[in-house]
Formats: sequence, structure tokens, C-alpha cells
Amino acid sequence: MKRKAKITIYCAMICMLCGCSNSLNNPVQNIDTAMGTVISQTLYLEENAEQESEEMPREVLRIIDQLEREVLSRRISESEIGRANASAGSGTNVPVSDTLQSVLTTCQMISADSEGAFDITLGEVVRLWDIDSWAGEDFSHYKIPTQEEIRNCLQNVGYHKLLFTNDCLQVPGGMQLDLGAVGKGIALDEIREYLEQQTQLSGAIISVGGSILTYGEKESGSTWNVAIVNPLDTSERLGYLSLKGTWCISTSGNYERYVEIDGTRYHHIIDPYTGYPVDNEITSVTILSENGLLSDALSTACYVLGVDAGMTLAESYGAEALFVDEEGYLYMTDGMEEVFRR
Ligand code: AMP
Ligand code: MG
Repeated sequence: MKRKAKITIYCAMICMLCGCSNSLNNPVQNIDTAMGTVISQTLYLEENAEQESEEMPREVLRIIDQLEREVLSRRISESEIGRANASAGSGTNVPVSDTLQSVLTTCQMISADSEGAFDITLGEVVRLWDIDSWAGEDFSHYKIPTQEEIRNCLQNVGYHKLLFTNDCLQVPGGMQLDLGAVGKGIALDEIREYLEQQTQLSGAIISVGGSILTYGEKESGSTWNVAIVNPLDTSERLGYLSLKGTWCISTSGNYERYVEIDGTRYHHIIDPYTGYPVDNEITSVTILSENGLLSDALSTACYVLGVDAGMTLAESYGAEALFVDEEGYLYMTDGMEEVFRR
């Protein structure tokens, strides 16, 4: 019996090719971890910004860490999501911060627009598959959930069952929330807000796991080139996106987190209708949007929906999409074709 589990750290995605070689600004580089993933930062600062070159990378990490600890993590009992999950079934109205309120509003909208393909109430199914533990190579003790276990969990899944008014949340019994599909994108939005206040910064490219923020420019007229991983061979790139200015790019792929048992790959993007990893011939979806939360939510939603419905959904949010199927064929929206280079 062959068992293999893997998380691909997105070093290849982090690979950023410079469009122009002679930058006038001093790039500051920093690689660290936060939110359980690798954070890579390249900041282009004005000359003589020594103090900022130390402060900015630290502050970016602090922002990500605080978001995870105070709002998003379901593994931290004091976070807003941790507290909401702990209250499930108690009938308590849990107050939510403005940040979480706006995140939940967008998530619920994408759930409705994707007809439930995207669903943050999948927490118990994610726990049942034990996706968080798919980090090592040795998976000899991994047990695939039974159909009955999955069926039982699914009874409590459904975004429309979540009671959410403007500033309060009531989680029904048996339901658990999981914002794993949007956390990195939300982080990009918060980082962008911080960068916008920095007068000494001309441009930056920051990667939070599989989600990337390009901000401003290195120098006048320069482009950001963001590599797209080949999901069929993650040591290769399919090409890159050539972008000017500020963008968010998120990828959902079956190579990011998975366990392989007897030649079958079980990956981390779940079909809410079946409770099993999505099996629709898609291997990755990349979304380009001005908004991080949207890029991250849509990459997951579009993966579940597949090419036709996924493209329609992405375009309805003004986002561009790139799908790769298991034969290696690419499908792109028109706007994505304009920026994709081989
Ligand atoms: P991403 O890599 O952004 O596509 O997010 C995948 C993560 O989102 C998984 O590890 C789960 O925690 C969660 N997830 C899986 N399937 C779904 C889904 N259909 N809708 C919302 N969240 C999901
Ligand atoms: Mg996502």
C-alpha cells in the first residue's frame, strides 16, 4: 500500500521574475513564516529608508499574525472563529468585528452565487478528513473517512443554515466554520491597506502561501512577473502573469495539500455536495483580482465549479481566471489571456 502526504510550500510561486533589471530603488527581501505558511516579501523603498526597511517587513508579519490569532483561526480558541465554533448549538449570538462581518458577508454572497460550491461551513468535513495533518511524508496511520462519517458531517453543512445578522453570528449545533479558503487573501487586503500608508515605499511583491500581492511599482513603468506553477509538475512553471500596479493573485491546486493512498490522490478542496475532494479533471485555478478576499474565495469556488460555471462566476466579480486540467490544457478568461506569458 502506497501512502504519501505532501504540502507543497509555494517556493515556485514565490519566484518573482523582474521585468526590468536596473531598479533605482533598494529592494529589501524577507522570508519568514506566519499563518502556517511561508511569507515572502520584496519591498522597493526610496533611498535612505533604513528604518522602514527594518520596520515594514516586521509590521507585515505582525498584521498577518494578528489577523490569524484574533479573527480567523479555528485552531485558536480565543479567535473570533474559535469562539463562534465553540458556541455552536448553544443558541448564543456571538458578536463579530467589522473585519469578520465584511468577510462573512462576502463569503455568504459567493456561496449563494456559486450555488453552494464555496461554503465556509465545511469545518467538520475538513476536520474529518484531517486536512490540517497532511504535512508530513509518512502517512501510514491515515484512515480515509467512511461514507457514513461523511454523510453524518454533511448534515450540518450549509451556508444558508448559518444565522448571520449584521453584527452577530449564531452557529447551529454540529456546524463548524473554516475560513481556510480565504485567510491568505484577507491577509493580502490588510497588508495592502498598510502599504498604502507608507510614503517611503514605491512598490512591493508579497506572497502569503499561494496568494500574492503586487503593489505599486519598482520604478516608473516596470512590470511584476508572477510565476504560475505547473500543477502536473510543481518543479516547473506554466508561464507567468505580467502585471502593472496593484493586484491579488490566488491559486487553488490539488498539489498544495494532499494525501495519496494506493495511487488515489485525496486533496484539500472539498465538494460540499459529496463531502469528498473535488474530482472534476481540474488541477488548478488561478484568479486575478484587485481584491485579495475575492481572489482567494473565487479560486476555491471556481475549482469546485469547473471551467464553464467557474469562468462565469469569476467574470461576474470582475475577476480573471486561469484553469488547468489534468491533461495540462489551459482555459482562460479574455483578460487573463492579455497578461499571461509563456
Ligand atoms: P484554497 O487553497 O484557498 O482553495 O483553500 C482550501 C481550504 O479551504 C481547505 O484546506 C479547507 O480548509 C477549505 N475548503 C475546502 N473546500 C472548500 C469549499 N468548497 N469551500 C470553502 N472552503 C473550502
Ligand atoms: Mg482560496
